[in-house]
Amino acid sequence: MVYQHQFVAGQPADLPLGKVVCVGRNYAEHARELNNPLSEQPLLFIKPASAVVALSPLIKLPDNKGPVHYESEMALLIGSPLTRATPAQAQAAIVGVGLALDLTLRTLQSELKQLGQPWEKAKAFDGACPLSPFVPISAVADLNNLEIRLRINGELRQQGNSGEMLTPMIPLLSYISEYFTLQPGDVVLTGTPAGVGPLVKDDQLELTLGNLLRCHTTVG
Ligand code: ZN
Repeated sequence: MVYQHQFVAGQPADLPLGKVVCVGRNYAEHARELNNPLSEQPLLFIKPASAVVALSPLIKLPDNKGPVHYESEMALLIGSPLTRATPAQAQAAIVGVGLALDLTLRTLQSELKQLGQPWEKAKAFDGACPLSPFVPISAVADLNNLEIRLRINGELRQQGNSGEMLTPMIPLLSYISEYFTLQPGDVVLTGTPAGVGPLVKDDQLELTLGNLLRCHTTVG
C-alpha cells in the first residue's frame, strides 16, 4: 500500500508526503541511557519520504542488518511552508499531531558514530519511519502537556511528556526552519523518551498519545 497522510477517522489529509525532520536527544533521560552528551543545540537529521510507511497494522524490519530499536515519538504534520519561522508562524503551521517510530539500526548507528559518519544508513532506510494517522491540531488542548506511552506485549517500555522536551515543539520548528524549509506535508519527529530497545518478530506494540490516539501494530 502506498502511504498517504491520514487524519484519525480515516479521512486522507490533502497533503503530499515530504521529508521527515527528526531531533535526537530531546529528552535528557534518553540521552543518558545511550551515554550521549546533551547538545546545546538540537541535533537534527532527516528521513526521506521513502522511509515512511503506515504504522498499522504491521511493520517490517530490515533483514540481516543487526538489531532494530524502537523509539516512540510524537510527530507533527506541517500544513504550510516555514522558513526562519517565528513562534506564531510555527504554531499556525501545525495541522496535526500523531505518533511515530524512529526505527534505528542501533549497532550500525554506533559504528557510524565512532567513524564520525552520518547516520542515514541506520535511520533513513526503507520503512524506518512508521507513522500513525494524525489528530487534528484543533483537538489538542496543550502541545506542551502531551503524554506518550509505548507498551510492548503488554509491558510499559516508554513513557514521556512533551513538557519534558529539552527543546519544546514550537521553538524546535523555528530552529529547524532556520536550516531546512518545512513544506506542506513534511513531518517533524520530536525525540524519544527513555526506554528504547530492540524489536523482535511478533512483538505487539501499543502506542498512545494522551487520550487522543491509540495505535496497535505487530512486527511482521
Ligand atoms: Zn529518535
